[in-house]
Amino acid sequence: MKLTVLGCYGPYPKAGGACSGYLLEDKEIKILVDCGNGVLSRFFQHCHDINELDAIFISHLHPDHMSDLMVMKYAIGIGQMQGKVKQSIPIYLPSSPKEDYDRIQYNDAFVRHMIAEDTEVNIKGIKINFKKTNHPVECYGMSFEKNGKRLVYSGDTKYFPELEVFAKNCDLFLCEGGILEKDITENTPHLSAKQAAEIALNANLKRVVLTHFWPETRPYNLYAEAREVFPNILELAEEGKAYFI
Ligand SMILES: [Zn+2]
Repeated sequence: MKLTVLGCYGPYPKAGGACSGYLLEDKEIKILVDCGNGVLSRFFQHCHDINELDAIFISHLHPDHMSDLMVMKYAIGIGQMQGKVKQSIPIYLPSSPKEDYDRIQYNDAFVRHMIAEDTEVNIKGIKINFKKTNHPVECYGMSFEKNGKRLVYSGDTKYFPELEVFAKNCDLFLCEGGILEKDITENTPHLSAKQAAEIALNANLKRVVLTHFWPETRPYNLYAEAREVFPNILELAEEGKAYFI
C-alpha cells in the first residue's frame, strides 16, 4: 500500500499547507482518509478522475478533517447531473454531531455509512477496522490491512492506553503528535509528539510518521522531542510525500 500525505496541519494550515488528508492506494484502489480544508485540491493533483475513488473514511467531523467534503460534494453531485460521475462515493464516518453529518450530503454525492467500533469494512481486499478515540466529538482511529501489512491511523485523540493495543504490530503508525509537551494541558484533546512516541514505543513499533501539526510549532522541535523517546524509524509527515507499507 502507498500512503500519500495530502495535508498534515490542524486545526488550521500554515501558508501553502492543508489540513488532514491522506490518499491510500494499492494498485487500482484509491481511498481518501480525512478531507480537511485544502485536501480536495491536492487530491486532484494525484487523481484527475473522481470516478477512480473507491471510498472515503473520515475520522471525525471537526472541520480540519472534513471541511473539504463541503465542496467535494459539489464535484460529485454536479458531475453526476452532467453524467461525468458514474456513481455515489461510499463514505464511512461518525454520525455525530448530527448537524455536521446532515450537511455533508448533496444530491446523491455520497452513500453514507456510519462508523461504530465494531464496524468492519472491506474495500477490494483492504480490511478496515476502527477504534473509538478520546476526543471531544465522536472520533475513530483506523486500521487498514492487506496481505499481512497494516497501517494504523490515530485520528485525533488525547492519550488513552487502548491506542497502544490497537496500533500493536502495525507496519506504519500514522499518529497525531503535532504539539510540544510543554503546550499540553489536562484538557488538550491531542497528543504531544512525545506522547505519540511513547505509544509507539509501548506498542513495540518499528516505524512512526507524526502528523496533525500545530502550524506555529517548529517541526524540528517535535522531531527532537519524539526522538528522545522512540529509537526506531521516526518521520514527520510531509505534504506530497508517499510512504510505502
Ligand atoms: Zn479534532
